[in-house]
Amino acid sequence: MSNTADIVIIGGGVMGASIAWNLKKRGAGKVILLERDNFATGATGKSSAIIRTHYLHPVLARMALHARKTFEHFGETVGGEPGFHNTGFIAISAPGDEETAREVVVMNNDAGIRAQVLTPGELHALEPRLDASPEFTGAAVWEPDSGYADPVLTAQSYAAAARDLGVEIRVGAAVCAIRANGRVNSVKTDRETIQTEKVIVAAGYRTRDLVAPLGFDAPLTPVRHTMAVIRRTKDFGAMPPIVSDRVFGVYSRPDVGDLTFVGTTAPYDGDIDYAVESERPADGTHVQNQAERFLRRWPSQQAAALRQGFSGVYDCSADLQPLLGPIPDVQGVYIACGFSGHGFKLSPVVGEMMADQVLGNPSTPVDITFFDPARFLRNEPIKMQFSYSSQTL
Ligand SMILES: Cc1cc2nc3c(=O)[nH]c(=O)nc-3n(C[C@H](O)[C@H](O)[C@H](O)COP(=O)(O)OP(=O)(O)OC[C@H]3O[C@@H](n4cnc5c(N)ncnc54)[C@H](O)[C@@H]3O)c2cc1C
Repeated sequence: MSNTADIVIIGGGVMGASIAWNLKKRGAGKVILLERDNFATGATGKSSAIIRTHYLHPVLARMALHARKTFEHFGETVGGEPGFHNTGFIAISAPGDEETAREVVVMNNDAGIRAQVLTPGELHALEPRLDASPEFTGAAVWEPDSGYADPVLTAQSYAAAARDLGVEIRVGAAVCAIRANGRVNSVKTDRETIQTEKVIVAAGYRTRDLVAPLGFDAPLTPVRHTMAVIRRTKDFGAMPPIVSDRVFGVYSRPDVGDLTFVGTTAPYDGDIDYAVESERPADGTHVQNQAERFLRRWPSQQAAALRQGFSGVYDCSADLQPLLGPIPDVQGVYIACGFSGHGFKLSPVVGEMMADQVLGNPSTPVDITFFDPARFLRNEPIKMQFSYSSQTL
């Protein structure tokens, strides 16, 4: 194995894979991707992989739309399969949030997103199985084009397409150190040292450990989320849309085989767990609690089977938005982390943005400096343009 590379990527989740493919697509030289375990064994492998465009800031809404189009045309654009299912997506907000929902939808529509506001009555007409009583339903936003994908398949498809373009992928290669002296010069793994002048760290929460010795303290917190898994009753009927229920604080995402995954809507509504690699079973108390909140909205599912769930870790940043770009003071080190539980859907566009920045291309399709990691040093966290009231029930 040759031990030099133009660019080394650390992390074989969906981000590392997307960045790798996008770099080669743009004509990058030798790219090596290093993954400690196997592809998509981190957050990507646990992801609900919901692809929605409902965002409270126009930059994120534009990114989400751009990324969704890649999922829709993955075969022609990247090659392979992301397993995209168009189920539609409903965001339910609390009574009192109707005006905010209308403003968000105007902003989303301006970004080119198909979305509309529904009253509780209209929501009931769209999905009669869902309890849309006005005492716990303000406005609902309906996105007909949203859905979910298969996160492992997506990462593997990106990796396969990257490999076809010449990216060297080394799995079972744990990076111990990034060496630099003002600028990066090499990456050390448990088996070799690779000389390079550019490193992209897309290692989820572990990005923090990898760049801390270089003097940058990435404000990341690992929050473990339990996913409850419910088998819908036989008489339930057609697959429901995805529902993000801000009132009860849970989202539900259908899966094949009559399954529904139920997670929590607030990124910090989980347990801080620094052992991010640990395979921990779902916490029974969380499973029960999430299932109960789900049943408030879907009363016909009282007899549904509650199965053992699973858990996965969000790399939550201080403002819940990603850190994308160079770290301060050391040339050649870039990070892509802090996705705070909403990164999967953005992975195609993050790959484009990171590749363009690292190669010095004009930034597309949005200005990546919006996500500058150094914003926290300037005490300039990203603020959403709109905010819903906190969860009310
Ligand atoms: C339960 C759950 C549900 C989610 N649901 C959604 C959703 O519905 N929609 C959505 O958009 N997002 C969702 N997310 C978030 C989304 O899955 C993540 O933002 C995304 O997968 C992050 O990808 P990544 O490549 O940055 O990180 P990861 O997938 O964590 O990949 C990082 C990789 O780096 C490797 N690594 C770490 N340290 C080293 C090292 N020293 N050397 C080499 N390799 C290393 C790890 O092994 C890992 O494979 C969810 C996340 C979870 C956990």
